[in-house]
Amino acid sequence: MRRNIPYGHQQITEEDIAAVVETLKSDYLTQGPKIGEFEKKFAAYVDASYALAVDNATSGLHLAAKALGVKEGVKVIVTPITFASSANCVKFCGGDVVFCDIDPDTYLMDIKKLEKMLASSPHGTYSGIIPVDFGGYPHKMDEYRELADRYGLWILEDACHAPGAAFQAKDGSWQKTGNSRYADATVFSFHPVKHITTGEGGMVTTRNEALYKKMTLYRTHGITKDPDLLQKNDGGWYYEMVDLGYNYRITDFQAALGMSQLDRAEIGIVRRQEIARKYNEAFAEAASIRIPFVGQGIRHAYHLYVIQVPDRLGLYNHLRSKGIFAQIHYIPLHLQPYYRQFGSKEGDCPVAESYYTHCLSLPVFPTLPEEDQDFVIESVLEFEKK
Ligand SMILES: *Cc1c(COP(=O)(O)O)cnc(C)c1O
Repeated sequence: MRRNIPYGHQQITEEDIAAVVETLKSDYLTQGPKIGEFEKKFAAYVDASYALAVDNATSGLHLAAKALGVKEGVKVIVTPITFASSANCVKFCGGDVVFCDIDPDTYLMDIKKLEKMLASSPHGTYSGIIPVDFGGYPHKMDEYRELADRYGLWILEDACHAPGAAFQAKDGSWQKTGNSRYADATVFSFHPVKHITTGEGGMVTTRNEALYKKMTLYRTHGITKDPDLLQKNDGGWYYEMVDLGYNYRITDFQAALGMSQLDRAEIGIVRRQEIARKYNEAFAEAASIRIPFVGQGIRHAYHLYVIQVPDRLGLYNHLRSKGIFAQIHYIPLHLQPYYRQFGSKEGDCPVAESYYTHCLSLPVFPTLPEEDQDFVIESVLEFEKK
């Protein structure tokens, strides 16, 4: 029997294990020095000013949405081709989610449709947008910023798929995804299927100090010892709970794992790009397979390698019968029962709906053995050229 081939998988090295063990033997399991070191190292990796480590990206999205002012009556525009958290963070805060259809080439929130939505509503209808760097394809965020500024919107970028991605801005400069030069805040996930892992974990990056301070407060119960925020001071033990917050902290030994993983992040991206190139070349001869589009000035991080095929269910089942666990990213969020109760329905986002009926994510991860990729290619072509 061949072993099963998943669509994504983590890599844990001896260095990773040593880093975790070292932290386990130290005085701190949580709220120790590794968290701050990991934050600094990650901020440097994506070229942001501030990074806040959290227990998972969903928490990070919640902190950011709350700090950006989402509350009852606030409307936020979200892409439907994403994981549930990208929209749920708005609901956690009592806000309303409005979906904007995707671009048929990049599968990202369609900026032309976004502009139409904004132009056809009274100014102030929407407060912010949550674009998702789907599959590792980075938004040209300078263009979204221009539009957001015209309509007074904030941008919360969900870059869970895109650490290490970059894009070329209109002025020709290369910008790293998550540097938050154009987005107000950017969120990353360290779940095992993502680029780097801490088991569960996430990071929020920003260049906005006030936003960073708010998110820091919400991460730890809304409790502070910051003398600037205290109403009085009874002594060294004294703290105040100044707002309602959560416990969204990561542990020190997870931060140690994250730092060790981050050392290999670049190698991982290069390997993912190699795998994508090999798929592209192999599928060039099969007219029924649509390979991923990559525009000019894009450094794709290839969290996913998504193809579109006419008979998606057929190919999915064919691959499964061979132990290849291709996946679907994603079932359009606006069609989930939870979101339908707020009025969204079939036909709201036709491009996303059509994409969903044809998409399939093939295995792509740095440790995918060459012979496993060859077997995936052979199995896909066997079905598509029959
Ligand atoms: C994985 C993922 C999340 C959630 O990340 P967690 O760390 O599991 O909370 C959110 N958005 C996108 C696009 C993701 O891929």
